[in-house]
Amino acid sequence: MRLERLDLAGFKSFAKKTTLVFDAPVVAIVGPNGSGKSNIAEACRWVLGEQSLKSLRGRRGEDFIWHGSPAAARSNRASVAITFNNPGQVFPIAAAEIEISREVYRDGTNHYLINQSEVRLKNLTELLHQAALGPSGYHIINQGEADRILNASPRERREIIEVALGLRLYQWQLAETEKKLLKTEENLRQVGLLRQEVAPHLRFLKKEMEKLERVRVWRRELKELALDYFSREAAYLAAERARLETLASGIRIKLEQLAKRSDGLGSRSPASPAGGPARPEEQLAAAEKHYRELISQREILNRRLGQLEGLIEAEKKFTAADAEAVAPGRVRGWTAALEAVIAQAKNLIDQNLLRAAWEKINVVVEEMKQAVQRRDRDESETLPLKAEFSQKQDELERLNEELTAAESAVSSLRQALEAAAARRGENEHARLELKFEISAEQTRLEAARGERERLEILQAEFDRELAEAAALTDRELLDFQKPAVPSEDGATERAEQAARQKKIERLKMKLEEAGVGSNAVAAEYEQAAAREAHLAREVADLETSVKSLSQVIADLKQKIDDEFAGGLQRINRQFQEFFALLFGGGRAALDLIEEKREEPETAEIILGLEIDVTLPRKRIRGLEMLSGGERSLTSIALLFALSRVHPPPFMILDETDAALDEINSRKYGDMVEQLAKETQLILITHNRETMSRADVIYGITMGADGVSRLLSIKFDEAVEYAKA
Ligand code: ATP
Repeated sequence: MRLERLDLAGFKSFAKKTTLVFDAPVVAIVGPNGSGKSNIAEACRWVLGEQSLKSLRGRRGEDFIWHGSPAAARSNRASVAITFNNPGQVFPIAAAEIEISREVYRDGTNHYLINQSEVRLKNLTELLHQAALGPSGYHIINQGEADRILNASPRERREIIEVALGLRLYQWQLAETEKKLLKTEENLRQVGLLRQEVAPHLRFLKKEMEKLERVRVWRRELKELALDYFSREAAYLAAERARLETLASGIRIKLEQLAKRSDGLGSRSPASPAGGPARPEEQLAAAEKHYRELISQREILNRRLGQLEGLIEAEKKFTAADAEAVAPGRVRGWTAALEAVIAQAKNLIDQNLLRAAWEKINVVVEEMKQAVQRRDRDESETLPLKAEFSQKQDELERLNEELTAAESAVSSLRQALEAAAARRGENEHARLELKFEISAEQTRLEAARGERERLEILQAEFDRELAEAAALTDRELLDFQKPAVPSEDGATERAEQAARQKKIERLKMKLEEAGVGSNAVAAEYEQAAAREAHLAREVADLETSVKSLSQVIADLKQKIDDEFAGGLQRINRQFQEFFALLFGGGRAALDLIEEKREEPETAEIILGLEIDVTLPRKRIRGLEMLSGGERSLTSIALLFALSRVHPPPFMILDETDAALDEINSRKYGDMVEQLAKETQLILITHNRETMSRADVIYGITMGADGVSRLLSIKFDEAVEYAKA
């Protein structure tokens, strides 16, 4: 890698655009005091991102901008660009050249650009570390700063050595990794806090989810159970309803039949309709009356006959009438008929009446018997009487016939009445039986109605329970398959249904207690769980990061320690060599010492570097006792030792040789030539010897306008030029 070019515009005294091309191993910059040489070295540090304004002899950004002179107006912008070639991509950018530029404006705006693209300082620093470059370090030594390393504290010295050994990149990586680790640990802490914060809510949501899960299981159980239960119950209700329908209609048919039968039996004693035929009782009464009338007519007749008989007896003991009356055939027939009637009437007619009639008949019969006896004595004397007697007897005969007819009418009417009465009794019994039967059927019908009502209540309960169960599970339940065929054993089925119902009730209670739960909880839980899982993953990632970063840190520290220890040995060898060369002997070494930090709370022990020098032929030990020139020589010996061990791509040495005498200037010139083999050198110098070792010499002049100007000059001119 080579420094190829430096472009300045408006930077300090370089008001105009000025380009320095570094196309030789050693370039000297010469010029009178105050011409602007040091401004070039500072431009290099500034463009590489130097943040210490003081070290660049400024207080504000504005101080780097050409501030103008009576002859030339001030600039508003200062810019410097430094260009390197990039072989093997020392800078990890796919470009043959890398141009780094920085610009500042009067308003304080500051920009960094890499190949014209603006970058942040951080990116620039990173890039420079990767190329083992930087704004400070020993590759740009400001005027009067040659013994900076001698004046530095042991700790600062150690840092300078670390830079010289190229450990800056590792240190920068270490610092970056430590920053990353801190950040990662902080993230880990934050994520941990976040997890702690959300943990109770997540626990709560988890419990809710478990509850929801339980509810889901219960609901499923309830649904299954309810489907079974309601199907069976619906089947039962349907079957019961059908059974009751059949039962009720059977009873109704039976009742209708019974009612018909009842109608068939007629009323108990129906009244004779007005104007209709007389009732049998009335007919009987009329017949009996008629009979009694006939009886009394016959009594009268008999009495007359008796009178006639007496008269005939009296006049002619025996009359024709007697004879007629006692005609044997007639008497016998009449008597027989009479006796038959009497025998028959015995049971039917009023006993007293009968007895009276009977006695009278007996009397008549007796008289007739006597008349028969008298006939034999005298029949002719009593003829008229006999005639009447005979007439009366005929009448009697007729009357008797009538009487017989009346009697038989009474008798048949009575029989009819008795039969009717008997019939009536039978009807009454049948009616009663019917009544019982109807009543029993009505009771059965009532019972069926009662059952039907019970069924309606069951149905209402069923509907309510079904709606409740559907509300607690899902509407699908309402479309349950029905009806399942209930088991054969009704009682067992009902007992099982009751058990199922109990189970359903218990599940319903559980569900009601648990509440329906909401999908919002599930969504929230899913979100929270996903977040927790994300956080857990993040924690795992961060922990892995912490581990790997810690490992990187440990590795880097180890590497830095190892390289530092090895590098220090090599530096010390070179230091001793250059020191002995410059002083013609003596000893010089960098020794590691332990240094305590000033802050008591940290009590950290860090390693610093002490410079131990022993001048030849002098009893001088330690830096404090060195002369200015000796200090300068020691610094140069160390600077060159560092450059040998870890050659920087370029070095700008601003009047490092200022204090050297002629002999040492030569030695310095030799060292420069040696160093130039590995490092590009830009030497700002007034020293003739140094100028003589340069391949290219730039002269800087400053005219009356205060503007620095650049010109290429020959060595001879340069010597003169430097003096001007
Ligand atoms: P010496 O040989 O004495 O060390 P030098 O050549 O290194 O001198 P510098 O120190 O580089 O000179 O230049 C200093 C000059 O730059 C001064 O004259 C100073 O006025 C000028 N200068 C510094 N800053 C600005 C600025 N912002 N605008 C104009 N001129 C400036």
